Amino acid sequence: MRNVAILGATGSIGASALDVIARHPQRFRVSALAAHRKVDELVALCTRFRPDLAVIADSAFEPALRSRLASAGLHTRIGSGEQGLRDAATSGDTVVAAIVGAAGLDSTLTAARAGQRVLLANKEAVVMAGALLLAALKQGGGQLIPIDSEHNAIFQCLPEGRPDLARAGVRRVLLTASGGPFRGRKRAELATITPEQACAHPNWSMGRKISVDSATLMNKGLEVIEAHWLFGIAPEQIDVVVHRESIVHSLVEYVDGSVLAQLGNPDMRTALAHALAWPERIDAGVTPLDLMKIAQLNFEAPDRQTFRCLDLAYRALAAGGTAPTILNAANEIAVGAFLERTLPFLAISELIESTLAAVASVPVDSIETLIHADLTAREAAQRIIRRAFC
Ligand code: NAD
Ligand code: MG
Repeated sequence: MRNVAILGATGSIGASALDVIARHPQRFRVSALAAHRKVDELVALCTRFRPDLAVIADSAFEPALRSRLASAGLHTRIGSGEQGLRDAATSGDTVVAAIVGAAGLDSTLTAARAGQRVLLANKEAVVMAGALLLAALKQGGGQLIPIDSEHNAIFQCLPEGRPDLARAGVRRVLLTASGGPFRGRKRAELATITPEQACAHPNWSMGRKISVDSATLMNKGLEVIEAHWLFGIAPEQIDVVVHRESIVHSLVEYVDGSVLAQLGNPDMRTALAHALAWPERIDAGVTPLDLMKIAQLNFEAPDRQTFRCLDLAYRALAAGGTAPTILNAANEIAVGAFLERTLPFLAISELIESTLAAVASVPVDSIETLIHADLTAREAAQRIIRRAFC
């Protein structure tokens, strides 16, 4: 029996993870559920899954959580704030790290240090703190299994045991990208894009932040950095290919010319079921792939002139140090401002580029250095917005 904590339980990944868990009550039980502010949704999940611990990250909502759990007749232990998330991250043996953004870094590091099996969806944590996360995993002796569909696909296409990639004969990895809702459009056509248009992803139903990242291609940029850290692969061995059907989730090319791919319908429950049960396989509730019905799979190069965030991410990865942390922080501010309609869609990449130019990258020697870089970049990005867009 695995005891699973879901951090980000009320989100899109949280819902997919709980759907898989509910299908296998003999294998999994929920040790903790954590959410940001949605008390009613969290209580409904507690009623259904009966965790030992319920955590609301925003402490202001703790009294509401306490009274609603009591009215529901539940005796669930209650936590809040950063400490609550840390307690949740060590409440069982497996953690689904599905908080969105930098807010998930601390609990992801805690889970890694504690030797948990970390099912990582929170890509921003690895982009911000790749080296520290790897060190924490080593220290804890647990394992990380990627949930991001591309990285889960690569994990599945690599030899068991994650050997040194050069010795395993890996030439490169190819991350597939759907191209998002604006694939094929040029910059002039993107000037008046609204949050609703950007969040209407053609193939995946996801949270708002990652939906905007998919529309700008920053999602793929973050995933390039994620692949570098998770698989120890050099940036020049990571390529991106646009594949509009989202059926091939990524590919690994070997020196003998073999290319291994993982295919499936675009449903995150496949990656979650794979990671929850690994190395076994369990039913995920996903509709089987019908290749006759799909009939065609298309591949094309990404349009790097229109979607400039992809190259900004490659540049930050090449610069090293805190540059990816600065990139991530500027992107979080930019996406937030776009969703609040204070920043135009095309200004997202401009803001990230200006922030990278304004904040110097320094070597990463500690978590404090990273947190300082994150805060400095957020302040710089906000200053640039005030100057240029308000
Ligand atoms: P979402 O917006 O649907 O859910 C986010 C979850 O995080 C919610 O439960 C929310 O309560 C919680 N949260 C938000 N801010 C928080 C804070 N400050 N403190 C604590 N909890 C907080 O997002 P999502 O689509 O489920 O994505 C979650 C993560 O998984 C992201 O990093 C995303 O990039 C990654 N991911 C998502 C998908 C997908 O299909 N949705 C695919 C790959 C990777
Ligand atoms: Mg992905």
